[in-house]
Amino acid sequence: MDVFFIGVGEACDSEHGNTSVLVTTGPGVRVLCDCGFSVPHHFFRICDDPDELDMVWISHFHGDHYFGMPLLLLRLWEMRRSRPLVIAGQTGVADQVRKSFDMAYSGFAAKLCYPLDFMEIEPGESRQHAGLTMRTVQTVHSRRNLGLLLDDGDRKLYYSGDGRPSADVAALARDCDLAVHEAFKLEDEFPSHGSVSGCLRLAAEARIKRLALVHLERGVRREQADVIRDTLARNPSVTLPVEGTRISL
Ligand SMILES: [Zn+2]
Ligand SMILES: [Zn+2]
Repeated sequence: MDVFFIGVGEACDSEHGNTSVLVTTGPGVRVLCDCGFSVPHHFFRICDDPDELDMVWISHFHGDHYFGMPLLLLRLWEMRRSRPLVIAGQTGVADQVRKSFDMAYSGFAAKLCYPLDFMEIEPGESRQHAGLTMRTVQTVHSRRNLGLLLDDGDRKLYYSGDGRPSADVAALARDCDLAVHEAFKLEDEFPSHGSVSGCLRLAAEARIKRLALVHLERGVRREQADVIRDTLARNPSVTLPVEGTRISL
């Protein structure tokens, strides 16, 4: 499994882009996790083939996680995609994506030259697609957010989206090879956001093998760089990726 970081920032971070990862599983299935405002322009810098993307996962309906969908769909049409595109998320994902597309490019959905296959994956359910098994868990966030466990049969990735880990997250993410987790602050200041220390506790409790911290509040990333560097030095299994980082599992 290969995990490529398209962006690692929070909603307003103009330097690091909105958090999004492109996952390529062992058998070559490609999943884009979250598609916020800044993501399509970065994604299309590395995408030559409009048919290579299999699925988009949307963790929740905040703009920095799905308002890039209209441009993603438009550009794939421009590039003449022909395969169906699976768009997965919580209940209501089809309605939210269709509405955002219609607001951005009114009437364009009817022109698309490839089908959109929507897939809802609620906590407690298990979905299979292209050799992948996917399960979800609700986190603690200001808008309902689902963390995703992607299992390709060989490696397991947990992608948090936004929010502090709920009591159920450790069970789903247990023993996973990599967790890409939101850490907005160093400590648990915001009830609806994760933190660096909270992620370290989760990783220890769930025996997560590698932890990548994303979605840091931009002021924290800038002003607390020394503290973050010290934390990483003490925890070799934890990384702070930047856009363009690639982790092979
Ligand atoms: Zn966010
Ligand atoms: Zn959010």
